[in-house]
Amino acid sequence: MKDLVKNSVLKFKQEIYDAQDYIWANAETGYREVKTSKYMADIFEKLGYKLNYADNIPGFYTVIDTGREGPEILILAELDSVINFSHPDCNKETGAIHCCGHSAQCAAMVGIAGALTNPEILEKLSGRIRLCLVPAEELIEIEYRNELIKKGIIKYLGGKAEFLSRGYFDGVDLAFMVHTSSNKHFCANTGGVGCLAKNVTYKGVSAHAGGSPWNGVNALYSATQGLSAINAIRETFKEQDIIRVHPIITKGGGAVNAIPDEVVIESYVRGSSFDAIKDANRKVNRALVGSALSLGANVDIKDTPGYAPYINDELLLGAYEQAIKEQGYEFVNLGVISSGSTDMGDLRCIMPAIHPYAPGAVGISHGENYYIENKDLACVGSAIVQIQLLCNLLKDGASLAKEIIKNSTVQFKSKEDYLAYLDTFNSSGDRIEYLEDKAIVKL
Ligand SMILES: [Zn+2]
Ligand SMILES: [Zn+2]
Repeated sequence: MKDLVKNSVLKFKQEIYDAQDYIWANAETGYREVKTSKYMADIFEKLGYKLNYADNIPGFYTVIDTGREGPEILILAELDSVINFSHPDCNKETGAIHCCGHSAQCAAMVGIAGALTNPEILEKLSGRIRLCLVPAEELIEIEYRNELIKKGIIKYLGGKAEFLSRGYFDGVDLAFMVHTSSNKHFCANTGGVGCLAKNVTYKGVSAHAGGSPWNGVNALYSATQGLSAINAIRETFKEQDIIRVHPIITKGGGAVNAIPDEVVIESYVRGSSFDAIKDANRKVNRALVGSALSLGANVDIKDTPGYAPYINDELLLGAYEQAIKEQGYEFVNLGVISSGSTDMGDLRCIMPAIHPYAPGAVGISHGENYYIENKDLACVGSAIVQIQLLCNLLKDGASLAKEIIKNSTVQFKSKEDYLAYLDTFNSSGDRIEYLEDKAIVKL
């Protein structure tokens, strides 16, 4: 099987290289990956796949049925880029650049889709395989995505929860994807933290900053007090909860001679469990509201669910390690919970899933020095390992996949249960109601 897997991928080596080059040079951020999605869809169609398109947003999937009874396995590749205007290769207008390596995921997917056209592979497998190109993993441009939510185009900030809610993963029993990393070897964390996205608008009263500042209520000072208050509560965050709060000011005032009446902050609250995120977020909101109250300002806090915390399925990760070794590569288990977040966590809430890494990148993830240095590892090698894993899961009547599915524990019984829980993270509106001799606050 080892050589069959390898050779089936290597047949598409040039197409894999070309995909990495094209997508790297044409980076697009989440829910804007129109060119990238079309490039990938054209390749899939040329290979003979029938595609289900996401209609009003980028992305698509296809289902390959072996014709034999068995579970359905979902393999994903992410279409979107990050933004980094300092990266030499970034799009000069948008700053879009694949310095998280998602271009290499797509390139590997070309190899996966190509290899699975080989009947010699498929005839050994049972069950079904769903290949999906998913948009919007990077949780950025929150204002833009909130606009899409307002217009009813999407319901969730992240592409995987969005696809899940649309039913594009209905019928799937197990999922994996492989992300690029700067580690020298194939590797995996134990899991990663989840997050919640915050859009905070401080509302004051504008006045002439020189002539009559006493008539104003300074939204900027309220906001900076709020940021200080968040810093003051950091010591109350427990180590095991891996709380990260990292706000930025996206609007700090209008004119220098006017008291700022509107200041906007974006932030995440990250944590290693839903309870930890909820607890920390309550403290953060208390800090933000308290600072507004102290100056007589108001604050509109819009909280939107981000990504779920996750722990890689242990048995599936073991199968990943075995596939790597079978193909002659090395594997390192990093054994830590990463303080980064991914929406693979959303899928892990309802099915066995893993989010491990392939080598081949260099530099700091999201940084200006990040490149795909070794396509043979990041793109071709990743595809070989993923096909090997898939074959191991679905060969012999899909016995390994069935065993993993039987033994895996999940946090939620169904997608409906999970999405209903996710929706409890939504809240918005002014948090202070001023009455004559008191104020009512809402956290
Ligand atoms: Zn990233
Ligand atoms: Zn990424």
